[in-house]
Amino acid sequence: MLEDLFRCTRVRRRIRSNPIGPILERYVEYLVGRGHLPRTLRQYIYVVEHFGRWLGRRPLDRAMVQRFIRRHLPVCRCRMPAFRNLEWNRAALNRLLEMVGMVPDRVGFPRGLVGNLLRRYQESLVTARGLTSLSVHKHLVLARDMVTDLCVRRTGQFGAWTPELIVRYVTKKARGHKPSTGKGFATRTRSFLRFLLQEGWICRDLSAAVPTFAHWRLATLPETLQKEDLIRLTLAADVRTPVGLRDRAVLLCMSELGLRVSDVAGLELDGVDLTARVLRLRCHKKRKTTVVPMSGKLAGALEAYLRHGRLASGARGVFVMHRAPIGRPLSPMNIRDIVLRLADRAGLRHRISGTHILRHSVASRMLGVGASLKQIADLLGHQSIDTTMIYAKVDLTALSQVALPWPGTKEVQR
Ligand SMILES: [Zn+2]
Repeated sequence: MLEDLFRCTRVRRRIRSNPIGPILERYVEYLVGRGHLPRTLRQYIYVVEHFGRWLGRRPLDRAMVQRFIRRHLPVCRCRMPAFRNLEWNRAALNRLLEMVGMVPDRVGFPRGLVGNLLRRYQESLVTARGLTSLSVHKHLVLARDMVTDLCVRRTGQFGAWTPELIVRYVTKKARGHKPSTGKGFATRTRSFLRFLLQEGWICRDLSAAVPTFAHWRLATLPETLQKEDLIRLTLAADVRTPVGLRDRAVLLCMSELGLRVSDVAGLELDGVDLTARVLRLRCHKKRKTTVVPMSGKLAGALEAYLRHGRLASGARGVFVMHRAPIGRPLSPMNIRDIVLRLADRAGLRHRISGTHILRHSVASRMLGVGASLKQIADLLGHQSIDTTMIYAKVDLTALSQVALPWPGTKEVQR
């Protein structure tokens, strides 16, 4: 994550060597999860970096944050970067405290008996179970979302919950998340259901109905987008504008070729060969270039963007900013934002939580037309066939429905 935000190795090394450097990676993930933009993330990191230098080996807690803001900032003479804007400091450090579980946001409860029930649940989590405040917070958010999503307005309605409903709810909630996150949802759902049973609002133990989420990678089927969804997503870019032309080309790079955000951000002008219809991707880690063929659709989109969309810029990167800083090559984080924005506009945001679903879709499409796991691994640049095997499962499910023998069996040997 830090790589996406700070391109300069020296800056990254400086940030990582900070006394609170070890938790910064988690901090960035936390902020990305909350939907902050890269620009904000960078400012927040600078604030936290300054705070960390000041804090040194002292404990990170609320009192120290207040001391830093009230006593240090007004007289700060630290060397740069020392970001002294009060509002930014407050916001960034509050997020930090939130992340380490010291001052979680208040959870808003519904009114009436359901709200009272959730308050009692909160009490039981704190007193009987002795959970940390962050954990209590997560349990409460889940319980509140569950009663809201399942439209429980009166406590009597809990009685209508069935095992099937619970399975559907948890599966839907965990979809698109990492298995570890799914596991967290499942654990908290079980906890809430056990509480409801104890309180007598449900009469059987529904917690047993909650699916388990195994941690091993091959256990989860990656979600993929169907053709219609991909079309909707592509149409969400307004190609009458330069930005729309850019966004459509960015999206097609990922949905047609399964490129990673870093591949798209790293694509350079001399890597686009419209005559031969190929892209040359430079892989800095391996110091080699991968050549991938483009579909006519992608080539057309790139040509339209390069001719009519891209701003004149000295940058070698294909995709550049159309807002300040104008002309700067897009970062991987910007590329991700573009996809999420299009998903928003296409009404697909509930299914698309990141860009990986586009890679998954390409892989499962390739399997569908008979490509081998080796070919897919090559195109997607996977290190191991093991990662690619996840896709075999996608197709196994599809194939089992039509009862055909699985074609690549020899390659799937384990
Ligand atoms: Zn200072």
